[in-house]
Parts: sequence; C-alpha cells; structure tokens
Amino acid sequence: GLVNIVGGCCGTTPDHIREVAASVVGVNPRRRPELQGRLRLSGLEPLEVIAGQASGFLMVGERTNVTGSPKFQKLIAADDFEGALSVARQQVENGANLIDVNFDEGMLDGVKCMTRFLNLAGSEPSITRVPVMVDSSDFRVIEAGLKTLQGKGVVNSLSLKGGVEEFKRQARLVRRYGAAAVVMAFDEQGQAATLEDKVRICGRAYRILVEEEGWDPSDIIFDPNVLTVATGIEEHQEYGVAFIEAIRRIKADCPGAFTSGGISNVSFSFRGNHAIREAMHSAFLYHSIRAGLDMGIVNAGMVGVYEQIDPGLRDAVEDVILNRRADATERLLALAETLKKAGTEGERSTGLQGIPKWREAPLEERITHSLIHGITDFIDEDTREALSKLGRPLLVIEGPLMAGMAVVGDLFGQGKMFLPQVVKSARVMKKAVAWLTPYMDAEKRAGGSSSQGRFVIATVKGDVHDIGKNIVSVVLGCNGYEVVDLGVMVSCEKILEAAHEKNADFIGLSGLITPSLEEMIFNAQEMKRREFKTPLLIGGATTSQAHTAIKIAPHYPGPVVHVADASRVVNVLSRMRTDPGFGSGLALEQESLREAHRRRERSTELLSLDEARGRRARPDSAVPLARPEQGHGRWVRRDFDLADLATYIDWSPFFWTWDLKGVFPAILEHPAHGAQARELHRDATTLLERIINQRRFEPQAVFGLYRASGHDETIALEDSSGGELERFEFLRQQKKKVSGDTYYCLADFVREDDTVGAFCVSMGDGVRRFSAEFEQAHDDYSAILVKALGDRLAEALAEKLHADVRSMMGFGRSEGLTRQDLIAEKYRGIRPALGYPACPDHTEKQKLWKLLDVESAIGVSLTENFAMNPASSVSGLYFFDPAARYFAVGDVGDDQLSAYAARKGISPAEAARWIRPFGS
Ligand code: SAH
Repeated sequence: GLVNIVGGCCGTTPDHIREVAASVVGVNPRRRPELQGRLRLSGLEPLEVIAGQASGFLMVGERTNVTGSPKFQKLIAADDFEGALSVARQQVENGANLIDVNFDEGMLDGVKCMTRFLNLAGSEPSITRVPVMVDSSDFRVIEAGLKTLQGKGVVNSLSLKGGVEEFKRQARLVRRYGAAAVVMAFDEQGQAATLEDKVRICGRAYRILVEEEGWDPSDIIFDPNVLTVATGIEEHQEYGVAFIEAIRRIKADCPGAFTSGGISNVSFSFRGNHAIREAMHSAFLYHSIRAGLDMGIVNAGMVGVYEQIDPGLRDAVEDVILNRRADATERLLALAETLKKAGTEGERSTGLQGIPKWREAPLEERITHSLIHGITDFIDEDTREALSKLGRPLLVIEGPLMAGMAVVGDLFGQGKMFLPQVVKSARVMKKAVAWLTPYMDAEKRAGGSSSQGRFVIATVKGDVHDIGKNIVSVVLGCNGYEVVDLGVMVSCEKILEAAHEKNADFIGLSGLITPSLEEMIFNAQEMKRREFKTPLLIGGATTSQAHTAIKIAPHYPGPVVHVADASRVVNVLSRMRTDPGFGSGLALEQESLREAHRRRERSTELLSLDEARGRRARPDSAVPLARPEQGHGRWVRRDFDLADLATYIDWSPFFWTWDLKGVFPAILEHPAHGAQARELHRDATTLLERIINQRRFEPQAVFGLYRASGHDETIALEDSSGGELERFEFLRQQKKKVSGDTYYCLADFVREDDTVGAFCVSMGDGVRRFSAEFEQAHDDYSAILVKALGDRLAEALAEKLHADVRSMMGFGRSEGLTRQDLIAEKYRGIRPALGYPACPDHTEKQKLWKLLDVESAIGVSLTENFAMNPASSVSGLYFFDPAARYFAVGDVGDDQLSAYAARKGISPAEAARWIRPFGS
C-alpha cells in the first residue's frame, strides 16, 4: 500500500517523510561530520537544521504557488487573499517547515501580489511561524518579497543564467537582506540536465559565492533540477539518476552547502495518475534523501511510505527512476493502465474539491483507512464499489471489510489504538454491513467459516447496566467474533436457550450491582445441570477475579474466566482457543485464589456484635443539629437546566468507562492517551450540547427530609405527629481493626430527633430513546456515548440536588464550594447509596421507593434485584452530621446476621444472600 496506515497516522501527514529520512541517514556513510553545515532560518520561530541529522529533512510547502496549485491561482486571480492565506495556514498545519510563495503568472502583478500577500501573512503567526521561500524568476518580485519579509527567509532562486555579474549582483542583494538562497543548476548555456553539468555548475556557483562573495556556505541551497522522467524520450531516462547522483557529488564537493529539489516534477508525465505519482515521489525521495537531500518542495499528500509501496509497483517505479532497464517506461505505463482501471482517476488536490487525498488510494486501502480512522462519510460508496468489484456481499464483508478490521484489531492489540477508536471503527463496519444487507437476502451467511467464534452475551436478570457489555460486544465484533447480544435483564433461561440454539462458542455474563453476582452463580449452576461445556466469561463493575474463582467457578466444570476490562477480552479468548495449557493454568490460578480466601477467612477475627456496638461512632453532641428551614417534607422537582447540570459533571469516571486511566482534566495531557482522551472529550461535549439544546434527557428528582433517630443499627423515620414512617436497617463493622477503634454503622450518625434525607434522581427514559436512535443508525459509538453521558448527568444531578438540600438545611448556604470541591466531597455530610459498602443490602431500597413513592413521582422502578430502571438514575440517603463518613461494612458475624434477619423478618440464609457476596 501507499498510504501510511500503520500507527494510526494518515497518509496525508508528512511525518512519514521524516521517517524515511530517519531510516536512511543511519546507513549513509557519506554523511561525514565535516560536511555538515548548519542551516539557520527563521519565521517567527527559528528553524535550524544540521545536515546529516535524521530529523533534518525539511519540507517546503508547494501549494502557495500559482504555477503549482490551481486552487491558489484561482484565489489570487479572484483577489481572495483571505482564501489564499488559508492555503498557507493549511500548509503549515500539515507540517510544512517552510512555505514556497510564488506569483509568476502572466496576468498577475508579481511585485504587488508578493508584497500584499506577505504583509497579510505577517500578521498571522500561524503562518509566519515558518520561514518563507520567496519564489520568482523575476528578481524584482524577489526583492519586493525580501523587503516585506520578517525573519530569515530563502530566495528561490539565484542562478548563473544571466552571467556571473548578474549572479553576483543578485547574491549581494540577497545577502544584504540577510536571506539564504536556493541556487539552481543553470548557467549561461541553460539548464543542467546531465550529472556532469549539474555538478560543474553548482561547483562553480559555490566557488563564486564562498570565495569571491564571502558567503557562508550554509546559506547556499543547491537545487540541481528535478526533471521529468518516463516521457518517452531516451535522454530523459537518466534524469532521475542524474539528480540523485548530483546530490551526492554536490554534498561532497561543496562542503557546508545544502540541497533541495522540486520533487513533483519527476512524475509529471504521469499527471492524472495519482497512485503512480505517489509511488514515484516516495521512491525518488527515498533515494535522494539517501544521497543527502536536505529539503524538498513537496506536496505531502502525494508522498507515501517507501516501505509500503506495493513491491511490484515499487520495482516498476524504481526501474524508471534509477534507469535500471530500457523498457522501464513501457512497463510502468502498462502497470499504470491496470491501476487506473482499479483505482480512481484524475489529479485532485486536497482543497480543490474538498476531497481528502487518501480518497485517491486503491479501494482496499480506502476501506481500511475509513475503518481505522472511524470515518463514515465514504464507506457507502466504497462498499458499493467493492460489491461491484467482488460480486457478492459476503466477499466484501469477508474480504476488504474484515481485512480492515483485522488491522484495527492488531493496532488495538499493540496498544496503538484505544477503545473509543475501536468502537468508532465498528461504526464504520456496521454502516458497510447495513448497506450490504439488502443484497444479502438471497444468500445465507456462511456462518463460522471466517468467524473466530460465536459469542452470546447478556446483562443478567435484574440488572440494567450495559455500557461495558456493549463496549465488549463491539470489541469482539471488531476482532472477528460473531456476537449475539441479548440485551439487559436477561433470564438464565433465555441465555442458555440462545446459547444452545446459536451453538455458542462462548457465553458472556455482565452485571453491575452485587445481586447480579448471585445471579451469575445461578447461571453457572444451571449450565452445569444442563451439561453445557461452553466457556463462561464474567464481567462488570462488582465482579472480580476472586469472586469468579471462589463463588462462580466451583459450580461449573467448564472454564469460568473473569475479564477485567474490555481491552482484555480478545486476548483471553484467543488464549483460550490456542493455548492448550489455558484450562489447567486457569484451574491452578483459581484454586490458589480459593486457598488464599480460605486462609483469610480462618484468620479473620470478628468482634462480637455487643463489643462492636460498644465502640460505635459518637458524633459530637456539641454540634447543633441541622434542621430543614422549611420543615420536613417531600419534594418533586423537574426544574433543572441540563446546561447547568453539565457544569457539575465529574468527567473522570467517563474516561474510565473507556479504559482510559487518569483523572480529568490532567488526563487530556496524558503522555500515552492524552490525544485520545481529548478526542473522546470533544465527541462527548459535542453530543452533550445536542442533548442540552434538544432537551433529550428529562432531569427529575424526588427527595424527602424526615425527622429521624438512630438506635443500634436502625434508623427510624417519623412523621410530624410522631408516628413511625419507616425503619431502615443497617449493619455494623465487626472485623477486628489493626488501626482505629471505631466500629461504624450508618445509624451512629443519626442522633435523637435528628434529620435524615432520602432521594432519587434520574435522567428519564430519554437516555434510552436517544441511544436507540443511534443504535438504529448502526452507530454504537454514539449510542454508548449517550448512555455514558446519561450516567454522568444523573450523578451531576445528584451532586447539584445534594448541594441544594444542604442549603435547605441551612449550613450549606455558606459552604462556598467550587465544582472541584464538590467532586472531592468537601461538604458536610454524606449521601450513601443503598447497596454500596456502608449499606450493602440492596433490598433496603424498597423502603426508599415506598417512602418517596419514587415510581409514580419520577418513573424510576426497581427490578427484581433492585437495580434502578432507567439506568441513568441515582438514589441514596442523606446524612447531615459532620461526623458522617463513608466506610465498608465488610465481614459480619453470625450473631449480627441473625439479629439483622430478625429485624427484617427474613431468614438468616436469605439475609446472607444479600449481604455476603463471598459469604459461606
Ligand atoms: N462524582 C462521582 C460521584 C459518585 S461516586 C461521580 O460522578 O460518579 C460517589 C458516590 O458513591 C457517593 O456519592 C455515594 O453515593 C456512593 N458511595 C461511595 N462510597 C460509598 C459507601 N462506602 N457506601 C455507600 N455509598 C457510597
């Protein structure tokens, strides 16, 4: 291929040209240090190059040239200097180290154009950052440029064309303005075409400038004329070699001087055939840089990576450039014909019709490019082209599309692509498959022939969280697995039925809340009962290596593997498929985890419940109790502004969702994945704006403030007349502490006649609906982003509501906290979520639902395992005492278990099911 795709760098960026330079410098023994000069130029910033250093190859942008760029020519002819400046800006952005500016066209007043353009550019630091190469064959234009220019530029060009005296006159002028100069290999007889003439003329110019005019050799840049090869004229066949060899000789003969060339000239005879031209430029540059070329006037979009040129094409191109055989031109022409048929025609510059350069690559590369870069714009037309070329939709999927996805998979595996990019790639793939689908009706999918295996995946019964599961599905799809995604809240029955029917090679279970762990155990037991052999994969926030080994794996004879995050799943599966020792290794590893757990259990020392109660937390009774200023009560609110809520977002967990580790905003500058984080953040904020502007989510809240008292592990809520409203039951820490002597329970933080709050907030069903719109459009990336933003906004709403409630409680009004302080929980009090470590029993949520009548107030319901539905919801209790803090209950003794069960009116076994995920 010609386009540099590996490494995620696209073919139009010029880095690869420097890579070529880097790769050849090391092997070039002719680059002797004594020959190295130091080229010093400057725009607003200095540009210094030491000849012979790898990074030294300079690119001179050629598009700000009326003879080279029709677009630039038109803009100038239309007096659109603003447009012309943007061409210059683009050149610099694309990596040009200098820009060549040329107005040599009959209809233009070169002096005026040059002056005006450079004056305008002078006030644009994004352009004049780089030095300018003032280009004209009319020396008055050059002088006009030199008068206007800031910094140290380059004149393009001087030559002996007009005789020695004129040459010297011009040279003195250039020197007076402090510029460097390109010296062309011309003399009184004309242009040097042969190696001997090039070397002789440059040598002569060098001696005049250095010995007679006192020039610093490093201000001289020789251009020994790049002339067009493969024209059909025999003398022209040697032009490529003549240039390359001339570079080598000039570098040796003219110590300290630099070399340059206008690269595109070499391929002029193939005008209209981009693929050939690009290959020619790449090969020509490669050999020229090896010979010592220091800079080139190039169109970075028309140079590929030498190593990636198709070997057949490269041979043919090098035969021409290096003049290796007499029939080289004919052979290249023949090859060009076949390429032309397969590829696109016509020379187009990037800006001219707004078509990016990579679009000119062969079909397969364009498809791969779209996949790697997540570009959906062209995939329909490329898929159509692929279908007409290959004839059958399946061949398109299994051919170029799968090949492209394989590259994506490899790059991801090598850590060169990140999760969000892979999901974006999948979006392109899906769009292509969707385009092909109507044509596929006639054919049955061959099924499995090219698939790595079939993967049935689901979020288990009672759980609604699916962001992680969806990301895993996409990653698997990208890696050639066929994924059957059963969705959320899927019963064991349905999962196993589907696995059987689809003949699944793997089953994946996902879940977020702790009751789902129990559900997974049940699934494993059922799989054993029904004599499944299918490997079982476990994933989700509360799942763990340990829980999988200790509580799930023992129930199923097949492999049960925990997958820590989406980026590991492919690796786990391929090891499972290819490593014969995988099963026994896993068994060993899990047995040692179980053994460690048993050891820990044996050594765990618990205080008795009575002892622990004696060491309860004791809030400071000197602190006055906070009271709601408007009195106790219950409120429903829908008066939230999404734009305001967005300012409360804690972005860090958003990045964790995508396996990007770090803390916002520092993550945006992360050395490895900062760029990726920035892109993801950009995509998210764009979508967030849409959500805000179109009011896609429905922020709503219900909360109450109640008179309450804490006793032992119970908090009793009362109504205004002293009647009991509800009793929340909690658990107390019992595990013996090495440091500290307080055995916490949430009830400790509630004094006599105190106030406790309860709340539930949600983004409503809009999250699911908006996400479904994207799913229907085969855009998983945006669908997942929407859900992640729904979760973020729900948390943000919880934060904002909590702040409002603290104000209602009086003390909050003077807290004066920034958004960062809120995220860091610097406020007084806590808002523990039922089901989380300080209160691990999810079933207590039922009471909160009843107390606040959550479902009729804001439409959030509880599943059979007490997950909130819609998923983008947050609920919990408010504790206002300054002593209140988060903790984890941890292991509890049988004494507490029976007491707790008795208070709740359930059996100890049932209680254990909810509060002891590892319990025995
Ligand atoms: N800024 C975060 C807030 C959510 S995580 C975000 O946007 O994601 C912190 C929340 O988790 C707390 O507000 C509380 O509701 C819950 N939490 C943390 N530790 C807890 C514990 N030990 N017990 C119960 N809930 C806890």
